[in-house]
Amino acid sequence: MNTQNGSYVGHKALMLALFGRSGQPPAWRAEAACSGQDTEVFFDSTRTEQAQTLCAGCPVQVECRSDQLGWEQQTRSRRYYAAGTFGDLTGSQRNQLHYPRKTTAPVSTDQKDVA
Ligand code: SF4
Repeated sequence: MNTQNGSYVGHKALMLALFGRSGQPPAWRAEAACSGQDTEVFFDSTRTEQAQTLCAGCPVQVECRSDQLGWEQQTRSRRYYAAGTFGDLTGSQRNQLHYPRKTTAPVSTDQKDVA
């Protein structure tokens, strides 16, 4: 690999973002319910329900969600244009987590105590 090439730096940054310093995918991915599944399910907006059904029964949903949100958090464009279903959250649901809508109506003190 040519280390003088500018794209090498980008490649290395991407591998770090995806796999961390070990260069290996996280161990939890071996237990993913989507392992071996058609990945298009997670990016096809007409099949979101199918993707979320898979995620709902996934034993590593917490790890997956945390990993995806953390990865998206690293750059504004990933947060702003979140796409695909991961960790049982659609892109728009994750976007709402990254950029919570602010209410325009003032919250009364009575409503703050309601759980
Ligand atoms: S939560 Fe969904 S996207 Fe994440 S590993 Fe499990 S099945 Fe795959």
